[in-house]
Amino acid sequence: MAVSLDEARDAVLAHVRVLNCEQVVLDDALGRALAADASAPDDVPPFAASAMDGFAIRAADTNAGCARLELIGESKAGMGADVAVRSGTAVRISTGAPMPQDADAVVPQELATSEDSTVRIDRQIARGWHVRCAGEDIRAGELVVAAGCLLGPAELGVLASMNIPSPSVVRRPRVAIAGTGDELTDPGKPLKAGAIRDSNGPALGGAVHRAGAELVTRMRVGDDFDATVAVLGAALRDVDVLITTGGVSVGAHDHVRPALKRLGLREIFAGVTMKPGRPTTFAVGEDGTLVFALPGNPVSALMGFRLFVVPALDAMLGRETVIHPVKAIADEQLPGAIGRTAIVRCRTTLHDDGWHVRPTKSQESHILTSMLGVDALALVPAGRDRIAAGEPVEIELVG
Ligand code: AMP
Ligand code: MG
Repeated sequence: MAVSLDEARDAVLAHVRVLNCEQVVLDDALGRALAADASAPDDVPPFAASAMDGFAIRAADTNAGCARLELIGESKAGMGADVAVRSGTAVRISTGAPMPQDADAVVPQELATSEDSTVRIDRQIARGWHVRCAGEDIRAGELVVAAGCLLGPAELGVLASMNIPSPSVVRRPRVAIAGTGDELTDPGKPLKAGAIRDSNGPALGGAVHRAGAELVTRMRVGDDFDATVAVLGAALRDVDVLITTGGVSVGAHDHVRPALKRLGLREIFAGVTMKPGRPTTFAVGEDGTLVFALPGNPVSALMGFRLFVVPALDAMLGRETVIHPVKAIADEQLPGAIGRTAIVRCRTTLHDDGWHVRPTKSQESHILTSMLGVDALALVPAGRDRIAAGEPVEIELVG
């Protein structure tokens, strides 16, 4: 039976389990989802250090507005500071070098004059000036990167600074894609009469990678029941998710639903009251494998991926899909679909009164170029046949 968009999203999430985790070295952890909260074992930085090249001093020595201090040693980056600064003395210091004991300020080189073994300072210096305190970036015990976070370059650097060389990350979901249709031909091959390019394969393959999952296999099958059972059966082996495209509607050559049934999968919903993507079907295996049977029309397939597969993959990775719902003004009429939520591909502009949207172009589900440059989806409620120009509409910003 057909369900609403919200019911369908809920039904998908109700069948997802978080995958187990594995340890990877930081150099392999980009884009992975952190499996457990990362807390700092120690302070970062681990010791008080200089923020400038200059001289470590005791600030009180400059209270008269000038001072001549005896230069008694040097603190370099990467070395322990083994000399203490007494009143009337200074230590040459480099950026990142440890503050010598009892020094409480750093005078930048540019503001001091060094002559022989003395340093002249012609101004009063405040305590703490140009000193980086221990733990100023991260305090020992602080929770710094939360479970579920997708590790980007900054997170990798922060984990390294916290001495976590091999974070525990959630295993990547294993995904298979199976395209159905006698007409499908790979780009680069000659087109026979009636044939078209398989655009869903590469588009969804890219979407799988971008979602942080592993594309295990991409298969294709013609419009034949037995072959569909065989190919889907093979695609289901050792994956967490199978995505099929095409053959899921009510046509005489649509074999995906009967094939899934033959393979023992339980259909959770068949049809979503949305446009595009009405035939979208979702089934689960006894072992928890999720099957998204998406319609063949390229826009419907990508929309189905975005609306259902992305939240499922995120949930498997222990994350919630980030959705940015905002109100926008329609600068042009947006088409609705009575009885269905219309999902209109839009481009946004930001004005003084907030977000404005325009549809990219024709919203038919075979116009794949309507997906180019999309940065928002406008959701036209099922009760509306259109949103008139100038009216507000709810949109979801998409990256
Ligand atoms: P179907 O869902 O099988 O009825 O297909 C609906 C439309 O999508 C038809 O026009 C198909 O030719 C087209 N289609 C199906 N699969 C693909 C694909 N992988 N790439 C591009 N178009 C497709
Ligand atoms: Mg077909």
